[in-house]
Amino acid sequence: MDHMIEKTLENLKKNHFITKYFNSKEEAMEDILKEIPADASIGIGGSVTIDQLGLYERLIYRGNAVYWHHRCEPYEKKTVLKNAAVSDIYLSSTNAVTRDGTLINIDGAGNRVANMFWGHHKIIIIAGINKITFNYDEGVKRIKTVACPQNAERLNLDVPCRYSGKCEDCNSPQRMCRILLTLERQPMNGNVHVYLINEELGY
Ligand code: SF4
Repeated sequence: MDHMIEKTLENLKKNHFITKYFNSKEEAMEDILKEIPADASIGIGGSVTIDQLGLYERLIYRGNAVYWHHRCEPYEKKTVLKNAAVSDIYLSSTNAVTRDGTLINIDGAGNRVANMFWGHHKIIIIAGINKITFNYDEGVKRIKTVACPQNAERLNLDVPCRYSGKCEDCNSPQRMCRILLTLERQPMNGNVHVYLINEELGY
């Protein structure tokens, strides 16, 4: 295993997160499906990684109640977001995982980050190794110059980073960067699992 990945996993554990490491997204998906009870309700945050894993489709196929606002009609969105917030298990990726074992996330509406630390029986954060950064500053830089421009393109948002690839600390009505969350340690009485996959996933 690459030294950077090894150190990241070691430090995540030191910070009391529950960790797993997978060689491929297929391996991760099979394990996660086994881990989630067939009768559990699942909420999912906005995540290209989860989409690439195909978890939503597999969970729905086997009969779990899954609430993902990226897979519903516009009129259902509010209800789906509310149900996701009270689901048994919440699935999300993270914008950055630092080598010293923390998770950094920036959000616009806040539903994703609000669900990443409290209120669920279990929270599973899944990330490709492309999300690993050396430290906090690099993590934030990665979000502003890699994640935000690509998300702006994907979501068709009219924000400067979409065109320049740089953060211009905009005041656009469509600004994505409104809430910054760092999980420095496992939350008190928390059950946050961090699974790293040895592939490039999401952004
Ligand atoms: S503050 Fe604006 S320009 Fe900077 S990354 Fe966020 S959305 Fe893009």
